[in-house]
Amino acid sequence: MATFRFQALAQIAGRKPVKFEELERKSAIFGSNVFNDKTMRQFLTEDAYQGVKDAVQHGKKIDRRLADYIALGMKEWALSKGVTHYTHWFQPLTGTTAEKHDAFFETSYDGSDPVEKFGGGQLVQQEPDASSFPNGGIRNTFEARGYTAWDPTSPAFIFGTTLCIPTVFISYTGEALDYKTPLLRALSAIDDAAVDVCRYFDKNVKKVTATLGWEQEYFLIDSALANSRPDILMTGRTLLGHTSAKGQQLDDHYFGSIPTRVLTYMRELEYECMLLGIPVKTRHNEVAPNQFELAPIFEETNLAVDHNSLLMDVMQKVAERHDFKVLFHEKPFKGVNGSGKHNNWSLATDTGVNLLGPGKTPMSNLQFLTFFINTIKAVNTYEELMRAAIATASNDHRLGANEAPPAIISVFIGQQLTKVLEELEGVSTGKLSPEEKTDLKLNVVGKIPDVLLDNTDRNRTSPFAFTGNKFEFRAVGSTANCANSMTTLNSIVAKQLIDFKKEVDTLIDEKDMKKDDAIFNVLREYIKETKNILFEGDGYSEAWEIEAGKRGLSNHKTTPKALKAKISKKALDLFSELKVMNHVEVEARYEIELEEYTKKIQIEGRVLGDIARNHVVPTAIRYQNLLIENVKGLKDIFGSEYETIAKEQISLIREISGHIEGISAKVEEMTEERKKANNLSNSEEMAAAYCDIVKPYFEIIRAHCDKLELLVDDEIWTLTKYRELLFTK
Ligand code: ADP
Ligand code: MG
Repeated sequence: MATFRFQALAQIAGRKPVKFEELERKSAIFGSNVFNDKTMRQFLTEDAYQGVKDAVQHGKKIDRRLADYIALGMKEWALSKGVTHYTHWFQPLTGTTAEKHDAFFETSYDGSDPVEKFGGGQLVQQEPDASSFPNGGIRNTFEARGYTAWDPTSPAFIFGTTLCIPTVFISYTGEALDYKTPLLRALSAIDDAAVDVCRYFDKNVKKVTATLGWEQEYFLIDSALANSRPDILMTGRTLLGHTSAKGQQLDDHYFGSIPTRVLTYMRELEYECMLLGIPVKTRHNEVAPNQFELAPIFEETNLAVDHNSLLMDVMQKVAERHDFKVLFHEKPFKGVNGSGKHNNWSLATDTGVNLLGPGKTPMSNLQFLTFFINTIKAVNTYEELMRAAIATASNDHRLGANEAPPAIISVFIGQQLTKVLEELEGVSTGKLSPEEKTDLKLNVVGKIPDVLLDNTDRNRTSPFAFTGNKFEFRAVGSTANCANSMTTLNSIVAKQLIDFKKEVDTLIDEKDMKKDDAIFNVLREYIKETKNILFEGDGYSEAWEIEAGKRGLSNHKTTPKALKAKISKKALDLFSELKVMNHVEVEARYEIELEEYTKKIQIEGRVLGDIARNHVVPTAIRYQNLLIENVKGLKDIFGSEYETIAKEQISLIREISGHIEGISAKVEEMTEERKKANNLSNSEEMAAAYCDIVKPYFEIIRAHCDKLELLVDDEIWTLTKYRELLFTK
């Protein structure tokens, strides 16, 4: 009987390479399926075009009459490209994207006048049947339904034969039910706060845009192999499997040549990305076998977040055509590096300045230092909230797993900037003497560009690192929606910039200080206050855990513990002061994330119990029976001598029995604990029970299964093995 495992392996052996040829140059097709500036000029009236522009640039409302014109143009464009349906595309809190397709096609009641229709009403607002999206109780308590509303700052696009309109998803009482709404509010908060601070340096700045460049890591597994593993299908990761003899120890995969089959996939994926206006630029192998990375050119944050969500969909769809399955999970394989999604972040002014890039003059460098130090200060104040922003069941496997950022948030800035901060710390209190100022400007602030140019300092173990002209939030998980981390980061920096401005203005107004003196004074105090968060050493080391403990930094290793920071008074105050989220919205999110955590562990527990009992144990018994037959035969031939001759077989039979017994007992206990946990009425307690009581069984059950994998004849083992999952090309 051929098991799924051998069927899958046979299927792969017979695979014909999928062909893909790009016909046109990337620049020629870039954005051709996007309702972008060029297309808008072509399909919209002057009025309508200006309306969209004003909405994007100045947040102006689009009135209904204008919306009708825009919808008309959008429809004409879509029909010209063979589109039949439209959908409001949004990001509910399930971590995927959602869409409900409606046809443009309409007729009157008697079936006459068939026509393609799409008006301002359909563009601006829709009511999806969304009763099954997570809402943390908001909609139940307040209103029965939510609605989606057009976000003009992210352009509509065509995927397949559907016009997709990026939207927010909110309840009728106005509470956010998605990732995008709070993100847009946070981006607006940091725009305002950063513009106010920029005006100290340049009165012409009118808008500050947060920029994001994500790096998406993923595993690519042959779909037949992935389908042969129930754990990968149901949970996105392997719940058992003995590590393969060869893992990543040779580091021969990293930046190695990309296998042809994978390269063909990547080329088609990039082609699709070009049509959708996702500016992907780099592709390479990652550390682990069959692990890869894809990164775009950075963009305005809201657009970058949408593009990452869209990309994850597109990656899976294109993979189907190439008989691959994409694993986004943070830790699909034990003993092999996991995947992250580095979030590179900076702030850009409408005058073309990167606020985290050192400039050419001392004044622009003081501006750089201001944003640089304020960011560090923000992370120092809200380190727990940063940890909470990246907390998920799957990312828990990665954080602190000796290969990924630890669960402790710290900031890496490199030796040279550390020196700059040390010098600034020595600035005198109060008004600075002209000599001191000149010295600072020439020798400290003025030297920064040179310093950074040859700054090759890179610390791969830091969760939040400064990398020359941007900060890189590295602890974000590969399955995450970037909106979660970006809402938090932009909010905490916005709040910090508001506080900074107040402090500087107070020194100017009340202590009669000059602007520069006041800025230097406030920054000096910040440097003193934020030393605890700066760390340049090995973030994976045990010594750092101990040191971080002494410094009072949090180290929440599990999601239920980490998430608590989200509903702390500090967090509630922050989000409500900035109008990013009110208390109800924050608390609802907390509930949803706890629930999601519980569900994930619950499903993993069920799947593991099922595989252990229905795959591993029967296979082990089958093999044991073979051994028993063998021993019986030896006894027939050798009589009493058989005990010596069959010694190995007999001890194997015993060993197998021991593991079978271990599996049965532990699966039983785990199931009992799940039942108890399910009866808890409080979601916090339930998540904690799943985390601290249920989850620890996984490792014990797995250990028995993995031992059996080593003992049992390879020919009858039903589950596809690590070496096959990881090394099949
Ligand atoms: P790595 O971290 O792998 O060394 P790079 O330093 O080359 O990669 O860049 C990583 C990412 O940083 C890229 O996706 C790039 O678009 C992004 N990036 C560069 N500048 C900025 C910026 N000012 N704001 C946001 N992201 C940026
Ligand atoms: Mg990176």
